[in-house]
Amino acid sequence: MIKADPDDPFAEIRDAVARLCAQFPAPYWRQMDREQAYPTAFVQALTQAGYLAALIPEAYGGAGLSLSAAAAILEEIQRAGANGAACHAQMYIMGSLLRHGSEAQKAQYLPLIASGALRLQAFGVTEPGSGTDTTSITTFAEKRGDHYVVNGQKVWTSRAEHSDLMLLLARTTPKDKVVKRTDGLSVFLVDMKQALAGGMTIRPIRTMMNHSTTEIFFDNVCVPAENLIGEEGKGFCYILSGMNAERILIAAECIGDAKWFTQKSTDYANERRVFGRPIGQNQGIQFPIARAYAQMRAAELMVKHAASLFESGRDCGAEANMAKMLAAEASWAAAEACVQTHGGFGFAEEYDIERKFREARLYQVAPISTNLILSHLAEHVLGLPRSY
Ligand SMILES: Cc1cc2nc3c(=O)[nH]c(=O)nc-3n(C[C@H](O)[C@H](O)[C@H](O)COP(=O)(O)OP(=O)(O)OC[C@H]3O[C@@H](n4cnc5c(N)ncnc54)[C@H](O)[C@@H]3O)c2cc1C
Repeated sequence: MIKADPDDPFAEIRDAVARLCAQFPAPYWRQMDREQAYPTAFVQALTQAGYLAALIPEAYGGAGLSLSAAAAILEEIQRAGANGAACHAQMYIMGSLLRHGSEAQKAQYLPLIASGALRLQAFGVTEPGSGTDTTSITTFAEKRGDHYVVNGQKVWTSRAEHSDLMLLLARTTPKDKVVKRTDGLSVFLVDMKQALAGGMTIRPIRTMMNHSTTEIFFDNVCVPAENLIGEEGKGFCYILSGMNAERILIAAECIGDAKWFTQKSTDYANERRVFGRPIGQNQGIQFPIARAYAQMRAAELMVKHAASLFESGRDCGAEANMAKMLAAEASWAAAEACVQTHGGFGFAEEYDIERKFREARLYQVAPISTNLILSHLAEHVLGLPRSY
């Protein structure tokens, strides 16, 4: 049994989240996974309980909780065997609106996002032609009077079919006409219904796990100028400011996954008897589980450290990235140990391990891949030459 921290300030939140998740046991997630279906009932329950509005200030109808509290919520969801990826972005995408939107935009949207009346959980950044090189995106928003006309394509825009709004990053000045390549990018709040009626097409992408991800095509889609967030051309900075929160929260999810796998592994290793003794008596079984546990605990400290830097308004770019990388590696180590511990049963659907194994793999690639984190650390923390 992984012991709870007796000094955990979020113990009550964790208990409450665990109770909510218990209403959605493993067969529910198996069915969602098998059918690649969106877990609407689960997302509604989380919304009604206010968890997805954790980071929205009370003045706008949210819970006004800290990033650490939001991290505890997501960690607990994953620890319960659920899949928070279906809705985690509803927590943090609104951060760009909160930090950089006008008072009128915040008053219009945040209370509706907090109540769940509007879902803002689609984030259109990645494009097929640019990949990780975000400043090379080519989706273009051209200003024409009181609106912008958007043309281009996004890929891997998750939950787009389950969002009322999308935060879209588009070029408003071509890359070859800006001084800095990070200039000339802008962020828009796109009303999905309006856009679907006016030139936007969403195509689902089936993936190895149930993730409701899509590709999106924009063909002369009109977006009202009043939906521009902040200043035109400054969108890259706005997106970056939200990414630290995203990384810390996803790292917390990985910690939850690691705890789920480790609990499964130890339970099974204690109970399964082969050659007349529990398999957990063999060090060959114990050590990978123990090593993954140690990795998880170290990553957990980095998640807490990054969250506390974020909350005190200090720069946490390196720590948020390290937290995400270390936690994703820890959850993968725990997943690998869990499959190995279960032998053949690790592959059986009814044990849920193969599902969680597929889900856990994503976080070494998205929302940022490990290589890019390492090159960020090499260049920005260690002062090594820029590699790309
Ligand atoms: C299921 C899923 C959901 C996603 N959801 C969203 C979403 O909601 N919104 C969104 O905008 N995006 C989303 N993404 C996209 C995700 O953020 C990207 O897949 C990720 O950032 C990697 O980009 P890429 O796939 O274009 O890989 P590429 O940039 O093509 O890179 C491919 C590989 O090359 C490596 N590489 C590239 N350049 C370098 C370099 N200079 N040095 C070393 N290695 C390098 C990368 O690390 C990677 O391993 C999602 C992706 C997936 C798979």
